[in-house]
Amino acid sequence: MTSRRPAYRLSANENPYPPLPSVQKILSSEAALVNRYPDRFATRLTESIAARHDVPPEHIATGAGSVGVLHHLLHAALRDGGEVVHAWPSFEAYPHLTEMCGGVSVPVPLRDHRHDLAAMADALSDRTKVVIVCNPNNPTGTVTSAAALNRFLERVPDDVLVVLDEAYREFVTEPGAPDGIEYHRDRPRLAVLRTFSKAYGLAGLRVGYAVAHEPVAARIRAASVPFGVNALAHTAAVVSLEAEDELMARVAELTAERQRVTDRLRATGLGIPDSQANFLWLPLGDRTAAFADACADAGVSVWTLDGEGARVTVGEPEANDIVVRVLSGLPGA
Ligand SMILES: *Cc1c(COP(=O)(O)O)cnc(C)c1O
Repeated sequence: MTSRRPAYRLSANENPYPPLPSVQKILSSEAALVNRYPDRFATRLTESIAARHDVPPEHIATGAGSVGVLHHLLHAALRDGGEVVHAWPSFEAYPHLTEMCGGVSVPVPLRDHRHDLAAMADALSDRTKVVIVCNPNNPTGTVTSAAALNRFLERVPDDVLVVLDEAYREFVTEPGAPDGIEYHRDRPRLAVLRTFSKAYGLAGLRVGYAVAHEPVAARIRAASVPFGVNALAHTAAVVSLEAEDELMARVAELTAERQRVTDRLRATGLGIPDSQANFLWLPLGDRTAAFADACADAGVSVWTLDGEGARVTVGEPEANDIVVRVLSGLPGA
């Protein structure tokens, strides 16, 4: 066992690039103003997001990360209890927040590392309040096709709120993959979650949002803790939207690196599902712990699901190369 701090963190799907110089500059100058409260309604940010997606500002609800927004959404939706249907393995926050809000989590196993939307539709009951589709899915990186999503949405009753968690949407390169913002336009019972944590590289500031029709967005806002978006997060997110071209060039670098690493890892013989996110899923089964330990010894931390597999963020090329080396040397391939 080593206790040294890993040189590379590939366990949290963070963006390996440091904040843009324009973002760092505004953060330094804003730091002198933090004796003041932020804008309680995050007005500038809300307007910037609305303009970016061509939606009315009333359709936006912001919060401390998209996890913060999801918490508020579930808090509102589960006021009288109820069930939340979601895939599994998927984002750990779904069962956690559901239980925190007094609801019951209903996990539906993935099929071939993908959402089994037919089984998820079968799992809806008269107790279901919310169904969450994580697209791309964390931790497997897979996306749901538009055809499968359409079939699924036809089966969801009107009193169930559909949440499309698109934390990794900016990394999707597959043509024709569903875009939640477009889906939301004519679906009043569908909310999309987006975040500045991943593609925009602002995980440490905590800022995310939901896009949903006014009644749903208003319920989320009403259930929100006041001043959830702090002043630095607000300003950095606005500046990041203005610098989107620069940030998306980095995202393109990361998706190219994703392909390079996928090819190299697959060369070891391991079947790795196609990822449309900024991480890869290594279905290592009972070799998972040995792999994670060997990565840690080599200075890289990864995220694991015991006995199932490891999720590895696409990070710095040097770090990714260490992962390839460790997997190539792992016994039992
Ligand atoms: C990282 C992640 C988020 C984003 O969380 P923030 O609170 O915005 O940092 C949301 N959903 C999924 C599935 C994620 O992996």
